[in-house]
Amino acid sequence: MTALTPRPGIMKIAPYVPGKDSVDGKEPIAKLSSNEGALGPSPKAMAAYAKAAADLHRYPDGGAEKLRHAIGRHFGLDPARIVCGAGSDEILNLLVRAYCGPGDELLYSQFGFLMYPINALGVGATPVAAPEKDYRTDVDAMLARVTPRTRIVCLANPNNPTGSYITKDDVRRLHAGLPKEVLLVIDAAYAEYVSRNDYESGVELVDQAENVVMTRTFSKIFGLGGLRLGWMYGPAGIVDVMSRLRQPFNVNAAAQAAGVAALADIAHTDASRTNNDIWLPWLSAELTKLGFTPRPSVGNFVLVGFGSKERAQAANDWLMKDGLIPRMVAGYGMPDHLRITIGTETEVRAVAQSLKAFAAAR
Ligand SMILES: *Cc1c(COP(=O)(O)O)cnc(C)c1O
Repeated sequence: MTALTPRPGIMKIAPYVPGKDSVDGKEPIAKLSSNEGALGPSPKAMAAYAKAAADLHRYPDGGAEKLRHAIGRHFGLDPARIVCGAGSDEILNLLVRAYCGPGDELLYSQFGFLMYPINALGVGATPVAAPEKDYRTDVDAMLARVTPRTRIVCLANPNNPTGSYITKDDVRRLHAGLPKEVLLVIDAAYAEYVSRNDYESGVELVDQAENVVMTRTFSKIFGLGGLRLGWMYGPAGIVDVMSRLRQPFNVNAAAQAAGVAALADIAHTDASRTNNDIWLPWLSAELTKLGFTPRPSVGNFVLVGFGSKERAQAANDWLMKDGLIPRMVAGYGMPDHLRITIGTETEVRAVAQSLKAFAAAR
């Protein structure tokens, strides 16, 4: 027992449970539980990472100058309005710490990314979830839950774990309905995978408004989750706030070097996108044929409905016995679904094979 009491809210947090990485302690055949890039890191990023080893005694560049300029060039953005972080998780956390506190509300969508309510509780604020329609953010339901206490609205677009997205018009409608003093955070962790005419990552809205930021990550298509690297693009005023609040050396030197190299390896990123463009629709079609319900996805993963919580659990156990690790999403309030990352051809075929046997046996 301890007499020490943490600040209000913290004990209400259900700790985030990352995707499993082993089957009964053994190396899996395929880890498809965390949406990590199917093709792994770029060989160029690996080389840059190795090269950084010789200078590990040096502090990193606290301003991540080269990296911000590389991001700016790659995405056509002003480097002065980019802030880098130890994963976009750090950026999302800093935004909540900067703009939200006890008595405030953070609004997000029912099946939105779990780090949003966790960050809200961490600062003593109240997470408010708006119900979804058909596993997709419902802009009207979101706007209906805006109150004078709302400080931040978090929108993952595309969303994890549903895989759904809302159109640029809907994002703009959501923004237009928010008071000026509410911050809209557009978390576009999967933007690189989306190829829809009616989709926008958030850049355009950031450029037009004072109360919008977009967050991005190197953990998904760039395959650098182990290094922890993410960034945000925002208005100068918010960039200034973040620069005051963040730790001076929040992004390590190896991550900065690998990030620059990963951006330059266009061929690797293109190959990762192509892999997804082929195997996401293929797996979805196979699962539909088997009688399961894959939800439409524009990310590098698919949310699959199994009809009941028991059957989803049984499918999870079945895949695991075959060395394939899906992600249980009961923590998101979807115990009847599993989320499966799109891996390589071999991995995706193994999932289809395993679930075919499962469907035949059960
Ligand atoms: C994976 C993910 C992130 C965070 O990634 P980092 O590794 O912290 O950069 C953020 N948002 C969503 C929706 C994600 O799925």
